[in-house]
Amino acid sequence: MTVSIRQIHPVFVGEVTGIDCSKPLSSGDVAAIEAGMDHHAVLIFPDQPLTDQQQIDFTRHFGELEGYQTGGHIRKKEDSRLAPELADFSNLDKSGNIMSDQDRVWFFKLGDRLWHSDSSFRPIPAKYSLLSGRVLPSWGANTEFADMRAAYDALDDRTRREVEDLVCEHSLRFSREAIGFTDLTPEERTAFRPVRQRLVRTHPVTGRKSLFLSSHAGTILGWTIPEARMFLRDLTEFATQQRFVHAHAWRVNDLVIWDNRTTMHRARRFDRNEVRDVRRTTLGGDVATIEQAA
Ligand code: MN
Repeated sequence: MTVSIRQIHPVFVGEVTGIDCSKPLSSGDVAAIEAGMDHHAVLIFPDQPLTDQQQIDFTRHFGELEGYQTGGHIRKKEDSRLAPELADFSNLDKSGNIMSDQDRVWFFKLGDRLWHSDSSFRPIPAKYSLLSGRVLPSWGANTEFADMRAAYDALDDRTRREVEDLVCEHSLRFSREAIGFTDLTPEERTAFRPVRQRLVRTHPVTGRKSLFLSSHAGTILGWTIPEARMFLRDLTEFATQQRFVHAHAWRVNDLVIWDNRTTMHRARRFDRNEVRDVRRTTLGGDVATIEQAA
């Protein structure tokens, strides 16, 4: 089999065929997928039934898993259905029942419906996220992606100059405040201490610049908060115009990989009385954005 990638959106997103993600990959396959990620930023692999272990093994072809034992993860380890290498993005509790609409984990999950980049609230944010669709509801639950390279390219000259050297602070606190969920424990407040991220990133391989936006961003260094929030809101609105966005409608056993360095994404509504079981592995990034020149 030969890896083949077909672009399915005018500016990004490829669909990948000619590969079995449950099997060990050749170095040529790994290189083809990495090149595909560099070019398309989001890759969709249809019809890839995976066990959790196969998903973990596939992910490790592309780097080191992000450590889940660090602060910022809401489900406590003892409450998790899944191995520590996987993040549970289902609406199920530990016993496999649909979680209550009063569950604090559910409140945190609702925040994923804001545009964001995974782990932008960590000092070294995530590289790729890999999401496997195991059980899907009958309606809704799309994942939408926005290309932050195309958005950067489309900025007017003045705005592009203005954002070039800006540094933001990101925290889970800011994104949860945005949906009115402010009932955090003292431990969470400590764990969610804001981290600094450049607003403009440069991709280490392609050299393309992109906007590093996320609903976790809540301040811009040297700016007042109202001014910063309004500017970030304006930029996010600009960057998530339809021309930069792809909506992925899930089919069972889709595996979707996105590059958090160059895209934002958001979850969409579904009927919470139906099961949605999607499982994520995440590759850690390798450098803090503030140590990178734009
Ligand atoms: Mn996410």
